[in-house]
Amino acid sequence: MTEGGSAIRAMFEEGARMAERFGRENVYDFSLGNPNIPAPEKVRREIVRLAEETDPMELHGYMSNAGYPFVRSAVAESLNRRFGTDFSEDNIIMTVGAAGGLNVVLKTLLNPGDEVLVFAPYFLEYGNYVSNFDGVLKAIPANAKGGFQPDPEALREHITERTKALILNNPNNPTGVIYTEETVRAIARVLEEKERELGAPIYLISDEPYRELAYDGRTVPYLTKYYRDTVVGYSWSKSLSLPGERIGYIVIPSECADSRLIFDAAVIANRILGFVNAPSLQQRLVAECLEESADVDAYDKNRRALYDGLTEAGFECIYPEGAFYMWVKTPGDDREFSQRAKGHNILVVPGTSFACPGYVRIAYCVSYDMIKRSMPSFRALAEEYGLSK
Ligand code: PLP
Repeated sequence: MTEGGSAIRAMFEEGARMAERFGRENVYDFSLGNPNIPAPEKVRREIVRLAEETDPMELHGYMSNAGYPFVRSAVAESLNRRFGTDFSEDNIIMTVGAAGGLNVVLKTLLNPGDEVLVFAPYFLEYGNYVSNFDGVLKAIPANAKGGFQPDPEALREHITERTKALILNNPNNPTGVIYTEETVRAIARVLEEKERELGAPIYLISDEPYRELAYDGRTVPYLTKYYRDTVVGYSWSKSLSLPGERIGYIVIPSECADSRLIFDAAVIANRILGFVNAPSLQQRLVAECLEESADVDAYDKNRRALYDGLTEAGFECIYPEGAFYMWVKTPGDDREFSQRAKGHNILVVPGTSFACPGYVRIAYCVSYDMIKRSMPSFRALAEEYGLSK
């Protein structure tokens, strides 16, 4: 197992212990990407309505391992409407969140020893998901000079005849960067060239649980439109603030190499990995809430307050374009920095936990009030490092 995910969890547990010791209002826990904005009111109303109005045998029963056909069809129509795609229920499999979906995709695609590429920094759980199926995760070094946009030429250098897939996470956890259309086109070109050269498909796995969390009117390119062999994984954990409910989907487009085979295998993978099917009530719920989204403006307000406060204190931050994370350069070792931050009751995750030392991730899916209250502690930390202006 890789240490990243468990390091974040350990920090979360520590935050709870510190809150008990110092009082909740005196601990500034920015460690976990657990949305703090409540799900839209419609979500609650629909859960109640579905529970009251649906025949319980239908509401709670098994269905196709791919999910309810009417839900998959509603998801496909929503995607077609928003992104000009041409999906049907036969391209959609409902999953147990993005994590469940990624595991299903990797079980379907990987043979032992197959390599999966990812651009650093990245969500370290990918390493566990890939090793679940005896694959090998290979990280492409971070492109700090290029504002953390992936470097297509570095991708080219890392592709071998064992490369089965590339995972792309956009908007990105942990940097908050949105990969641009230009970047996506360049990545697609490299993958196409390498597919031709090696004579085998290289799948692009788009992990996009933060798709709707984009600021300043930015949009996130829909990858199936740029590269044929794309599989998309999505979840409502962040966009509807439902991470504990475990609901998402994967898209396997018809034009993707071996599409039917992959779709059928993925349905079986969903079953035999023990998910069986995505939760029945949550499937019905999301079908009713496809046009809903959490209050992105509230995250935006947090983003601005945190960025202004930290840069004012002397920290160097990447201004986030999406998701709810700020990526901050550390003066010195990132693990030591997060230890010293703890001395000021601030919990942040070292970049080492995302395969990118020299930075920390600050999750700002927290109350605006906590961000404001934390500022004197951040300023004290900056002073300790001699950063203050
Ligand atoms: N992918 C990324 C990049 C994430 O940040 C997360 C959760 O934080 C996941 C996948 C897993 O999401 P889910 O809760 O839908 O399984």
